[in-house]
Amino acid sequence: MPWNSECECIPEKELAAFQLEKLRDTVAWVTERVPFYRQKFDGAGVATADLKTVEDIARFPFTVKNDLRDHYPFGLCAVPMDEVVRVHASSGTTGKPVTSPYTRGDVAQWTECVTRALAAYGVRPGDVVQNAYSHGLFTGGLGLHQAISRIGCTNIPIGTGSTERQVSLMRDFRATVLCCTPSYALTIAEKADQMNIDIKDLPLRVGIFGAEPWSDEMRRAIEGRMGITAMDIFGLTELCGPGVAYECSARSGSHINEDHFIAEIVDPATLEPLPFGEKGELVLTAIQRRAMPLIRYRTKDITRLVRKRCSCGRTFARMERISGRTDDMLIINGVNVFPSQVESLLLDIPGLEPQYRLVVKKRGYLDRLIVQVEAGQAIFDQGREKQYAVAAAVADHIRGVMGIRVHVEILPPLFLERSEGKALRVVDERSARFG
Ligand code: AMP
Ligand code: ZN
Repeated sequence: MPWNSECECIPEKELAAFQLEKLRDTVAWVTERVPFYRQKFDGAGVATADLKTVEDIARFPFTVKNDLRDHYPFGLCAVPMDEVVRVHASSGTTGKPVTSPYTRGDVAQWTECVTRALAAYGVRPGDVVQNAYSHGLFTGGLGLHQAISRIGCTNIPIGTGSTERQVSLMRDFRATVLCCTPSYALTIAEKADQMNIDIKDLPLRVGIFGAEPWSDEMRRAIEGRMGITAMDIFGLTELCGPGVAYECSARSGSHINEDHFIAEIVDPATLEPLPFGEKGELVLTAIQRRAMPLIRYRTKDITRLVRKRCSCGRTFARMERISGRTDDMLIINGVNVFPSQVESLLLDIPGLEPQYRLVVKKRGYLDRLIVQVEAGQAIFDQGREKQYAVAAAVADHIRGVMGIRVHVEILPPLFLERSEGKALRVVDERSARFG
C-alpha cells in the first residue's frame, strides 16, 4: 500500500495541474528573492507568466553545480537565515562543498518523500532498522532517520564504519532492515563471513541502498549473499537528499516524487529536451521547497524516464536505474565507458567478486583501461593458469559487448580497499603527468 495514495496515485491530469501551480509559485518565489535567478531569467527573457504548461519549463535556463559553488554558502537561499532550521552539505571530490538549507517545511516534505519510499519497500512498525548511512552533513543518515521515526519502527542510528560492530549489532538487535551504500553492504557481508556469521540466518529482510550507482547484477550479488530484498533509493543533496525517487515492488525503475520534483531528460551535449524513453541527463526542479528551490538543476546523472502504468498503482513517472554520470564517464580511445556497465559485465562471469577498480593509463597516444577485479577463493586456489583463463574470458566479454580492449588483472580475495560510503571505482592516471 502506498503511504500517501492521494499523492502517489494522483491521476495524470491532476498531477500536471498541480505541478504547474507549484512551478509557477516557485519561479515567482525565487525571482523575487534570489538575485541570481532574477538576473538569469531576465537575461533569458523569461518570467513566471511564460509558464502556461509544465513543458514551458524548457524555456528557462539551467542551474549547475558551479552556480551553487559560486554562491557558496547561502547565496541562493530564498529565505532569511532565521527561517533555516537545518543545513546539509555534500563535499564532492573537488572545490567547495555544495550546501542545502531547509526550512521547517522543507524538512517535513523531505521526511514525507523518504517515508513513501520506506513504505514502498515494505518497511512497517515492528521493523528494526539499522541505518548505516553516515549521519551528519551527508543527507543519507538523517534523511532516513526522520522517515524511520515517522513510520514508527525501531531506529538504530549506527552510522557508517566499525564494520565488525555493524555485524554483531545486526545479529544482537535482530535488525530486519539495513540502510547503506550498496558497496558498504558488501563490506558488511564480507566481514560477517570472516566472523563466521551467516547473514542469511539472521532476520534481515530488506536493504535500502543508494547514494552511488549500482547495477542489477550487483543487486543480485548482494541479495544472494545476504538473503534479502535489495531496494534502490535515489536523491542528491541539492534537491533534498535521498527520497527524490524510490523503487516499488515492481522493481522496474524508481518512482519520482513528482508532486515535489519535475523531472526532465536532456541531451547532455545539445541540452535539448528528450522525450520519455530516451536516455540522457536528468534535470530536476524542486517545486515545493522554500529555502533553496533549484530550477532545472542539471544532475549529470544518466537515465531515462518512463510514464507507463505501474503494477503498484502509483502514477508517478519512473526513472531507470542510473547508468552513470556524465562526469564519471570515461572516454577510452573515443569510446564512452560507464563504470557500471563494466560492473555488470564482470558479474556475468562466475566466480568473480563484485569488487573491482578501473585504472586508466596513457600508453603513447592511446588510452589503456586496466580492469582489476577480485576472484573468489575457489578460482584463486586453482592457480595461475585458471586466473589467466578467467582474465581472458573477462576481456573477451567486455570486448564483445562494449567493443573496447581492456587488460584484466585478477586479484586475490579481499585485495582492494573496502568502502564505508561511496566506493571509489575509477583511478584515472592519464592527466597525472601533466600535473
Ligand atoms: P550526494 O549529493 O552526495 O548524495 O550525491 C548525489 C549523487 O549520488 C547523485 O547525483 C547520483 O550521482 C548518486 N546517487 C544517489 N543515489 C543513487 C542511486 N540510487 N543510484 C545511482 N546513483 C545514485
Ligand atoms: Zn510502481
